[in-house]
Amino acid sequence: MWVMNLNNTSGKTCTCGSWTKHWERYSGARSWPLKCGTKGCPNIPAVGAHVKQVGTGDHLHTIVMLCRGCNNRFGQQLELESYIRLARANIRETCTPLVTW
Ligand SMILES: [Zn+2]
Ligand SMILES: [Zn+2]
Repeated sequence: MWVMNLNNTSGKTCTCGSWTKHWERYSGARSWPLKCGTKGCPNIPAVGAHVKQVGTGDHLHTIVMLCRGCNNRFGQQLELESYIRLARANIRETCTPLVTW
C-alpha cells in the first residue's frame, strides 16, 4: 500500500492525548510494532504519523507507526509493509468525546 506522508499535522490532537496512544487504541494491534511501517525500513517505530492512501480515492487521514526518519519525510510517498496496522484518524468515529457538562 502506498501512502502520502502528510505535512503540518502536529497541531491536530485528539482526546487520546497523543497519536501514538490513538494508534494503540484503534489499530486493533495487540502489541507494539517491532519496526517502522515503511517497507524495508528496519528502524524502531517512534511516532504515530498522519498519512493518507494514494490512488484509492480515500482521503481520510490514517495513523501509522513510523520511525522518526520516515515521519520527517513530509510530502513524500511511502510504501507500507502489507501487514501493517492502521488506525483511522477520524476522531468523530473513534475517540470518545470529552464530556463537558
Ligand atoms: Zn484519539
Ligand atoms: Zn522508517
